[in-house]
Amino acid sequence: MIATRLRQRIREAGPISIAAFMTQALFDPSDGFYATKDPIGAGADFITAPEISQMFGELIGLWAAQSWLDMGRPSPFNLVELGPGRGTMMADALRACRAVPGMLDATQVTLIEASAALKAVQARTLGPSGAQIRWVDRLEAVPPGPAIIVGNEFLDCLPLRQAIKHKGQWHERMIGLEDGDDGDDTASAFVFVLGPPLGIDEDLVPQRLRDAPDDTLVELRPGDRQIVEALATRFASQPGRALLIDYGPAQSEAGDTLQALRAHQKVPPLENPGTADLTGRVDFESLLLQARNLGLAAYGPVEQGRFLLGLGMESRATVLARSDPAQRSVIARQVWRLTDEHQMGALFKLVCLDSPGLSRPPGFTAD
Ligand code: SAH
Repeated sequence: MIATRLRQRIREAGPISIAAFMTQALFDPSDGFYATKDPIGAGADFITAPEISQMFGELIGLWAAQSWLDMGRPSPFNLVELGPGRGTMMADALRACRAVPGMLDATQVTLIEASAALKAVQARTLGPSGAQIRWVDRLEAVPPGPAIIVGNEFLDCLPLRQAIKHKGQWHERMIGLEDGDDGDDTASAFVFVLGPPLGIDEDLVPQRLRDAPDDTLVELRPGDRQIVEALATRFASQPGRALLIDYGPAQSEAGDTLQALRAHQKVPPLENPGTADLTGRVDFESLLLQARNLGLAAYGPVEQGRFLLGLGMESRATVLARSDPAQRSVIARQVWRLTDEHQMGALFKLVCLDSPGLSRPPGFTAD
């Protein structure tokens, strides 16, 4: 069991970072939450936008198609997805791209996926598309050339760290075992403990929050940083555009956002690691700042509701409802879930990072 392995690790070497806990809980090769099963969908642990409606992936496909045209129709080019889950968004996007002459022939699909179980689901979902698909395990391994890169709810599950300001210094918030742990495996709960000062990793504290008072808790997102760095390195020499969709505030906010979802219910994040999804809010402000510092053109964040409606979701819904009138209310409900500000429409946001010199990306208006 993952909990047993984590307890052993803590007994041997002391408290571990939240990132280390998340990595093992989500990706432990034998029992990790993602490594072993397919947790996405109405009957599973959590649901995502592409699983709510085909319109989501279709509009992302149209966005990719317009981007391909903006880039001068490169052929071949890589259509890359970070963390494709069940492969639904890519399948719907490829179907939408069929409307653009020449695009599919130019497309080489590359999926970046850590979970063997989900790779198998992706292969099944995308089989009928007829597209050539390859899998790699990280962005740096995507073959060279022009690229359009998309990712929905990928950044939120990258391992995060937390820090608390204590007597004027940022200290790592870590995970240990409750007082009185006696080495009996079943007994001890995981608890948060204050660790050592961050040292040079203070650089990871969101800029807006660096001068916060004592006892402020902040989140550090080293995984997001690595992704932005990899994009900047790639786009410095090869044309490309990336669209990242996730949940989080527009400006860096203090506070603990680590959450666990099992069977669509929030559960305590340190309980039964490996049996629930663990995520934290994305810090779009820090991400965009870093991207600009690294020389990328960066746009957003745009709220998901505004983005999808701006790309024509209402008219797509009308067309779908016309072809299947019995589904009219189902389709209307899907639009509402994806775009209403009290549903996913405002909390979920999009950012676009691209190589300098491209035109303004679709869906990111100037105001
Ligand atoms: N985009 C999908 C799935 C979101 S869940 C959807 O919207 O439905 C997160 C996905 O990212 C899963 O497929 C998970 O296995 C994958 N993933 C998470 N961390 C990863 C990493 N470091 N490398 C590759 N894939 C990762």
